[in-house]
Amino acid sequence: MSDHDARDAAESLRDAAFAAMENAYAPYSNYRVGAAIRSEDGRVVTGCNVENAVYGEALCAERVAIAAAVAQGIKSFDEIAIATESDEPAPPCGSCRQTMSEFAPDLRVTSYARNGKQATWRLGDLLPEAFALNHLRGRM
Ligand SMILES: [Zn+2]
Repeated sequence: MSDHDARDAAESLRDAAFAAMENAYAPYSNYRVGAAIRSEDGRVVTGCNVENAVYGEALCAERVAIAAAVAQGIKSFDEIAIATESDEPAPPCGSCRQTMSEFAPDLRVTSYARNGKQATWRLGDLLPEAFALNHLRGRM
């Protein structure tokens, strides 16, 4: 992929995340979040946060996107874009980092603020020493 194509792909993913943010259901926090995750073969799946009167049942946009992708049979990813209305790019929460790690330990994570600011991380930097299947089975 050329630099130009990579930039187009990143902008397309960003736009999909902001579009998903418009569908967020966040009447309690008023903190709308959208996410768009791209599979290794270029498919894009989106999610938004979905809150609930039982606060603890709230779902984050990132995990909604990943669950929707898995439901479509997609389990390998190379980038996720996160969109919020914050003034600063918001990193994913710990629960989302763990869920991302299950499928893409080296995922590229880019977060966008409405004002154009953005930040990019590698998931391995956001969640070093993630718990994984090999730990569950007691072997390394
Ligand atoms: Zn989260």
